[in-house]
Amino acid sequence: MTEAIAVLNAGSSSLKFSVFAAADGDLQLRLRGQLEGLFTAPKFVGKDADGVVLSEHTWPVGFQLGHEGAMAHLTAFLDAHTDGLRIKAFGHRVVHGGVEFAEPVCVDPATFKQLEAFVPLAPLHQPNNLLPIRLLLESGNKAAQVACFDTAFHRDQPLIAQMYALPHEMTAAGIRRYGFHGLSYEYIVSVLAQHDERAAAGRTVVFHLGNGASMCAIHAGRSVATTMGFTAVDGLPMGTRCGSVDPGVLLYLMDQRGMDARAIEKLIYHRSGLLGMSGVSSDCRALEESDDRNAKLALDHFCYRAARELASLAATMAGLDAVVFTAGIGENSPTVRAKILEQAAWLGVALDRDANRVRGFARISTAASAVSAWVIPTNEELMIARHTWRVIHA
Ligand code: ADP
Repeated sequence: MTEAIAVLNAGSSSLKFSVFAAADGDLQLRLRGQLEGLFTAPKFVGKDADGVVLSEHTWPVGFQLGHEGAMAHLTAFLDAHTDGLRIKAFGHRVVHGGVEFAEPVCVDPATFKQLEAFVPLAPLHQPNNLLPIRLLLESGNKAAQVACFDTAFHRDQPLIAQMYALPHEMTAAGIRRYGFHGLSYEYIVSVLAQHDERAAAGRTVVFHLGNGASMCAIHAGRSVATTMGFTAVDGLPMGTRCGSVDPGVLLYLMDQRGMDARAIEKLIYHRSGLLGMSGVSSDCRALEESDDRNAKLALDHFCYRAARELASLAATMAGLDAVVFTAGIGENSPTVRAKILEQAAWLGVALDRDANRVRGFARISTAASAVSAWVIPTNEELMIARHTWRVIHA
């Protein structure tokens, strides 16, 4: 039997999974897929490592499959398609590890309670992330449950970078910058030296630009500053999230427009960002294809903010050796990358326009560029599998 790790990423309406087998001294992808529309029009697809569909299923529109039904379907799929493999552990993506967890952790009922205590810090994500862990623990499944945190990579940041200028007792109580997308940044760090040793040992800013978007200053492999803060709504504008706004705007909306916390939550998480600015779509591709004036403005503002953040993050490291683009937009949009890097020319980045046409891995700076620029596809699932493997063999 070959040992394997199953990786689960549970969102509000979806459950993504992958299975990695330990072979030839590495973890190799064997299965991947997802259940989506858990409360609207559930759909399952499971594929092998080459993307060949092994199993598909759809439920009627309106069927409430929920996370429990999704886990039951997934368990049956895994039982049927893991011949020769023994799943030793499930690695779970968990958005918040609070101040306490700077490393992945094997979850038992006591640890589970600690992770539940972080629900108020990430009410839209944490409960969904924890559900499969609870279901697997309750089912008596013998495999280990390992939680891997989006916040953990940033826990080493100096206090000066983590604190807000709020009364000290609030910082002590955990009202501070946590930062997110840590599993993606860690993966980039894990492969950067293969491509650019100077960057790996030096000062790099990574742009993780997807529906959720953030940037991270990484000095010699460690996070020193990031754009997301106490929550994943801070920093860059995103698909539907606003990123940083003056907190005074929110007070104004409460006082003058009678908006309560839930209405503001809806505004800043679901109605803002590329969608809100353009009025067209939250999807970068749709905006690039649109002739609408506000679609162009939304993309221009997104790139302007990213370029501003680049300078700010470079300042935390007193310089810059490399930039890396990753995630859906970062890996696939030459337009966005060019717009950002043109505004960063003064920092010493010279864009190679031909190289920038690619989608997927590439060096996109000229040979003479003082600062190198890369596109490196991220792989958060593999990072979770590696962490999980390490935890269970520690
Ligand atoms: P999530 O944060 O949900 O994981 P992704 O990393 O999948 O998001 O990124 C989704 C974003 O990537 C969307 O805005 C989508 O338009 C964008 N994207 C994907 N492919 C392309 C492309 N070829 N050109 C421009 N944008 C793209």
